[in-house]
Amino acid sequence: MMTTALAAAGAGATGLFKPSAAEAASDGNGQRSHGQGPFPAEGMALYSSHGPLELMKFQRRALGPKDVAIKLQFCGVCHSDIHHGREHWRKETFPLITGHELAGVVVAVGSSVSKFKVGSRVGVGCMVNSCRHCGPCESGMEQYCENGTVLTYGSKDRDGTMTQGGYSTFNVVDEDFVIGIPDAIDLAHAGPMMCAGITVYSPLRRWSIGPGKKVGVVGLGGLGHMATKIAAAMGAEVTVLTTSRNKAEDAKRFGAKTVIVNQDGADLSKHKRSLDFILDTVPYQHDLDRLVPLLKLDATLCLVGVGKVTEPNQLGPFSLLGARNSFASSAIGGVRETQELVGFCALHDIRPEITKIPREKIDDAWTKVVQKEARYRFVIDMTRT
Ligand code: NAP
Ligand code: ZN
Repeated sequence: MMTTALAAAGAGATGLFKPSAAEAASDGNGQRSHGQGPFPAEGMALYSSHGPLELMKFQRRALGPKDVAIKLQFCGVCHSDIHHGREHWRKETFPLITGHELAGVVVAVGSSVSKFKVGSRVGVGCMVNSCRHCGPCESGMEQYCENGTVLTYGSKDRDGTMTQGGYSTFNVVDEDFVIGIPDAIDLAHAGPMMCAGITVYSPLRRWSIGPGKKVGVVGLGGLGHMATKIAAAMGAEVTVLTTSRNKAEDAKRFGAKTVIVNQDGADLSKHKRSLDFILDTVPYQHDLDRLVPLLKLDATLCLVGVGKVTEPNQLGPFSLLGARNSFASSAIGGVRETQELVGFCALHDIRPEITKIPREKIDDAWTKVVQKEARYRFVIDMTRT
């Protein structure tokens, strides 16, 4: 039934994203095609893990046969950008332009591109390449590539250069890692689907969330608010656990039936053994042992939030034993599944709640995200440069 419904929404249908003749003649901003590159670009770069973001001029590579050149219009601000930029996870190579929730319009295509044309509305998420031939790649899970996924930023690209992300005006990406965006979805809304949306959609599907299931969403931020909307649209009963009392009304508006303020040692005992699945999106060290008792027998706690490597989460030796629970994780989602998620959002009228900002305000946005003040995704408007 899901397949039919998604087909009705046009998800994954090649040809859906082909532009009209008029669109094909321009890049969506009334500009003519940009040639084959290399392409001049500007981005907001970090020059160290503690510095501010500063304007950097650089070039995107010339088009390979399978590449599309994308004039970027929007890029969402993900907490992962902060983790990378502030080196919470690993040493980075600077200068570094973060951003993996890209949305824009195709302005040039390589000679063998078949899925997109000049004028196509597209998105790019966290990956721009993978080996294509290992088991996970062949089954559409490029994010688990056995030979290393090339991330949208901070990865060594196939030409040996470091990838630079979406806080920029332009990108060149292999069409196999480009997602088509249907007309029904604004490009500003499409950006956050490319990471926040797919990162929660993929585990909700993997753990067969649907009618009759009770799902806990921990942390109401970029990922958490999308998880709430998507799980509710899948037919599940959603409980949001938040540390921010003032988000309770929003949680209900997004589709939660129950909101638990998980703050100052709040008593969670009356919710014991109530949930079939918990999706935990919290980005820093927190008490998992408080969450596990909320799971029913055999249920799973899936942690998609990724904290600092120097401050790992702990799970007590008896936590999982009492109700044979599982602890799991999940990384973004594959290209096909991301296209499916876009179709699901179109079909169910799901959009992220966004605040558009000019690129000069990214530092300020990062501060607000860390302080849990995003409502619920900042999106950089690249057309205001
Ligand atoms: P976000 O917008 O900042 O949302 C995180 C939410 O978690 C906050 O709004 C807050 O919700 C809660 N929170 C924040 N700090 C907390 C703390 N110290 N203790 C307890 N709760 C806290 O972040 P996001 O962009 O959604 O990303 C969330 C995490 O997912 C990040 O670690 C990110 O790197 C990771 N991520 C993972 C994947 C993957 O593939 N697994 C993909 C994308 C992102 P309340 O105010 O409701 O408590
Ligand atoms: Zn992200």
